[in-house]
Amino acid sequence: MSTNRALWMEIGLELDRAGGVALDVEPAGALTPQWHELLTEYKVAPLSEDARFAAAREAKQLKGAPLPEVEAVFKAICGSALELCGEAFAHYRQLSTQKPKLFAHAKAAAAQHRYDEYAPGAYVLRCPKCGAPRLQRELKCEFCGADIK
Ligand SMILES: [Zn+2]
Repeated sequence: MSTNRALWMEIGLELDRAGGVALDVEPAGALTPQWHELLTEYKVAPLSEDARFAAAREAKQLKGAPLPEVEAVFKAICGSALELCGEAFAHYRQLSTQKPKLFAHAKAAAAQHRYDEYAPGAYVLRCPKCGAPRLQRELKCEFCGADIK
């Protein structure tokens, strides 16, 4: 594989940024100025007032921008990196529908250097050695060769 590392890093950071802004949206399904700005940046049309709250309700979101908008933004960020996009989106779905105790769990996992967990605020998994985003199925970093256990 010949993934461009700089681009890959940028995609990871951008997913973290967009995911953070999306998750900060409260109540679930609302449209904050910050999220609206991101939608505009990625040329994603916001859902209508009714549709956005309906989508959030249907997905049982406790907070965050509605899933269809977040998925569209993540796809725009990822381009052809579909698998990374899918993992980031699945993580967003989990965070936006789950009670906050999971956050403490993720923090504890990070403190124990477990690399199969997302760091707080992160929407991609990263190589413990060089910090490059990686996919869940990867057991060796594509960029620095580090083993990921
Ligand atoms: Zn690495």
